[in-house]
Amino acid sequence: MVTAITASKLYEARWWETLPNGKLHCYLCPRHCHIGEGLTGFCFIRKNIGGKLYNLGYAQPAAIQIDPIEKKPLNHFLPGTKILSLGTAGCNMGCFFCQNWDISKSKSDQVSSNHLEPEAAVLAAIEYDCPSLAFTYNEPTIWGEYVIDIARVAHEMGLRTVMVTNGYITREALHDIYDHIDAANVDLKAFTEDFYSKMTLTHLQPVLDVLKMLRKESSVWIELTTLLIPALNDSPDEIKKLCGWILQNLGDDVPLHFTAFHPDFKLRDKPHTPPETLHRARHIAMDMGLKYVYEGNIVSEGANTICPGCRRVIVKRSWHAVSDVRINTDGTCQFCGYKISGYFKKPVMPSRGAIRVLRERVEAVQGADRVI
Ligand code: SF4
Repeated sequence: MVTAITASKLYEARWWETLPNGKLHCYLCPRHCHIGEGLTGFCFIRKNIGGKLYNLGYAQPAAIQIDPIEKKPLNHFLPGTKILSLGTAGCNMGCFFCQNWDISKSKSDQVSSNHLEPEAAVLAAIEYDCPSLAFTYNEPTIWGEYVIDIARVAHEMGLRTVMVTNGYITREALHDIYDHIDAANVDLKAFTEDFYSKMTLTHLQPVLDVLKMLRKESSVWIELTTLLIPALNDSPDEIKKLCGWILQNLGDDVPLHFTAFHPDFKLRDKPHTPPETLHRARHIAMDMGLKYVYEGNIVSEGANTICPGCRRVIVKRSWHAVSDVRINTDGTCQFCGYKISGYFKKPVMPSRGAIRVLRERVEAVQGADRVI
């Protein structure tokens, strides 16, 4: 499948500057770490070596998998297709409830990883008939240099690119990365600063700012996910405030996924989210006017896409499996013609000749030194 080589190469990072005290200032995310010689930032994978910042996650994925795109979750972007998904070690948030903590809370030398150059990642996607690639599992912002290089090759080959992200990125870096991205699922983990500061060790406002920037200053298709954790962020009042903000700032056609929590990492004392909590949240959101609201991590009718025009099921799902799509490639409902927001036209996969050229590039980069 994915061609791996063993040699690991250091890749110099972007988005940093040297401070008067000799430390390095990383301005990729709102943490703005000041990093001393030999140390890494909060995310573990951006390291000061000899006065230069390096990205230890570059071409070093710790997880590579073929997923249904519904698992990201994205329900309005190429529904029913497969997506090659990869992630590295580290994260810039400190979520107590992280469900991928085995890699997100690890340093790059604490996880087993393959060396995978951007060209090889895209070739693997093509060989597995995936029309898109996802940067996911941990926070892809922190390996943004690798994201950009993979996305460039993916777009050359006609494939699409997806970020699954916590939205914790600075304005300075946002356009550099998202100019290469077609769709994103952004976590809106709660709607209180108290939750963000205590449960994620970050802040709410920068995430809200990023959501507005993505909606208003980019062409990236966005969907939102809120993991509902009993007694922490699932009150009807908080759900109403969250939905009201979405309606006012992003519009009524941004899909919102309410997903169920399971006890994990540092939040093992909390119960699983009852299905009734998801049903209640979904009804609140739809009653307030959001058009596309989903329930995830449970088996539920709330996984289906309902046409806002005729109220018929136009994408039938069971968990992540899609059994019926009644949306035309131009996004119109096959029953009533209502225009469904999203992207429904599968890209044309590259020709045999283009794949042969890409394979030659993979062989060439495997034999070459990148940036040391
Ligand atoms: S990306 Fe990592 S090193 Fe840079 S500011 Fe964020 S947490 Fe710190």
